[in-house]
Amino acid sequence: MEKKLDPQHLDVLSFARDGHVLQGQGALADCLRLDEEKYGDVLQAGPVLWRLQGRTVPQSGGADQIWLDLQASVALPMQCQRCLTPVLETVQAERSFRFVADEATAAALDDEAEEDILVLSRDFDAWTLIEDELILALPLVPLHEVCPEKIPMSAVDPEFEAAAERPNPFGVLAGLKTGTPK
Ligand SMILES: [Zn+2]
Repeated sequence: MEKKLDPQHLDVLSFARDGHVLQGQGALADCLRLDEEKYGDVLQAGPVLWRLQGRTVPQSGGADQIWLDLQASVALPMQCQRCLTPVLETVQAERSFRFVADEATAAALDDEAEEDILVLSRDFDAWTLIEDELILALPLVPLHEVCPEKIPMSAVDPEFEAAAERPNPFGVLAGLKTGTPK
C-alpha cells in the first residue's frame, strides 16, 4: 500500500525521484501568520490552494539535482490603502527550490547559485514553505483596481461644492428688486 503523502512531512528525495505531484486546499486558519494579515470580517477569505511537484534534473558527471516546484494562492481580504475599505487580494506564489545534501553545501552554493537552495530532509514541512511564500507574495500596498463608490456624504468634494453654481441670495434679492414694478 502506498504511503500517504503529507505536505507537512515530505520525504523530499523520494518525492522528487518519483516525480510526485501533491495538491490540495487548506484553510486560511491553518496558516496562523497569514491569517493575521486578514482584514476584517466583511469579506470572506478563500481556501489556500497549493500544489507541489517533485522532479529531478540529470547532471552530466554528477548526481541528479533534486527540485521542488511550489505553487500556491489564496484570496485574502486586506485593507485598501486608498479608500480604507476591505479589498479581496488574490495572493499568488510560485517558486522552485533546489535541494542539496547538507547545510555546508547549501551555504557554499548560496552565494553563487541563482536558485533557492534548501537542505534535503526526509521530514520536510512544505506546508510552512507554502505559507512563507504566500507571505512574501503579499501586496505591499493593497488596492482596489477601482475603489467602490463612496457613500454620498464623503463623495462631496468641498472645492467642487464651492465652485458649483448656487443661487446667490443677494442676486435673488437683486432680481426681486429689478422685477418689482415701481
Ligand atoms: Zn479601495
